[in-house]
Amino acid sequence: MKVTFPHLGNVYIAAKALFQGLGIECVIPPLSNKAALEIGSLYSPEEICLPFKIQLGNYIQSIEQGADTVIITGSCGPCRFGEYGEMQMNILRKLGYDVKFIVADSPSDIGIRELFKRIGYMTAYSNKNKIQKIKSLFDAIKIIELMDSVEGEARYKSGFELRKGECKRLLNKCKSEAFNAESPGEMIEVIQHYNEKIKNVEFDAQKNPIKVAVIGEIYTIIEPFSNLYIEDRLMEMGVSTKRRLTPSWWVKNTALSPLGLNSMDIKKASKDYMALCIGGHARECIGEAVLAKEDGFDGAIQIFPLGCMPEIVSKAILPKISKDLGLPIMTLVVDEMTGEAGYLTRVEAFIDLLERRREDVLSRC
Ligand code: SF4
Repeated sequence: MKVTFPHLGNVYIAAKALFQGLGIECVIPPLSNKAALEIGSLYSPEEICLPFKIQLGNYIQSIEQGADTVIITGSCGPCRFGEYGEMQMNILRKLGYDVKFIVADSPSDIGIRELFKRIGYMTAYSNKNKIQKIKSLFDAIKIIELMDSVEGEARYKSGFELRKGECKRLLNKCKSEAFNAESPGEMIEVIQHYNEKIKNVEFDAQKNPIKVAVIGEIYTIIEPFSNLYIEDRLMEMGVSTKRRLTPSWWVKNTALSPLGLNSMDIKKASKDYMALCIGGHARECIGEAVLAKEDGFDGAIQIFPLGCMPEIVSKAILPKISKDLGLPIMTLVVDEMTGEAGYLTRVEAFIDLLERRREDVLSRC
């Protein structure tokens, strides 16, 4: 068995460690790129959302390199994501690719037994003992948590850094050195080392950067290619950003959801505007907008793919939140036709607006 998976931010680093620990061969697709999007768009239904297309491109690039099993997560409530696995499988079969899909659905949807059965199918190909398998899983979870911590810290601190570009440089070095580590243990050491380095980056006490929360559809906010590397662009502009939805958030949220104890802060914050889960992460988007105001952020940027049903609903509610709380919120909709120049102009104009708004408030004090 040679497994592959779609890209989602830094998950490929943890996935490499997981499969290395399990002793299962794995093909990591090239980082999402134009070629993956073009291949995916060519074979996907035209109206399907962007993540589907990029993921399909990821799989085909991996299959061409010998992958025969695709592992994806599933079930994001009543939206198209629940159908991704089935549809992608059919498309690949029609294209003549003989691949197996393992869909790791949430235990609240398929039951814990079925989830273990699916995981068991994969781990049956591992020649490691039970303890080693469990250790591989824990190492992978630790790696993704550490990577999220490094990334979160770097993106927030970059607005305060004394030497421009230091956080971004350390973050990129961390990713490449972690990925090239010889073993999961070495990978953890590398990320811990950079975690410390980023925590100790010298900051300018005089700086009070613009702070922006990145909210919206989980795939498009985490996978940098799909949002045209917006977090990197904001870092370069000296803006501090925060994104609550991360792969490690997803792991925790999924594990706690059967008990109803997941993301209590977000649920509480969203209850006046969207009290129910309507699919995708629309409710989280609403809750995060409210929390952004409570955390003292200057504004929020919502990103989602064209035609994303849950986020269209949040988009309709965000102006009310913006008005009630006095928090500017900009929405960016992405698809395969999104042009970088126009997209960045909008981001720059939004940051200008936040700066002017702040000056305005200060001048009135
Ligand atoms: S959340 Fe939106 S983009 Fe993601 S699968 Fe559902 S409809 Fe598509």
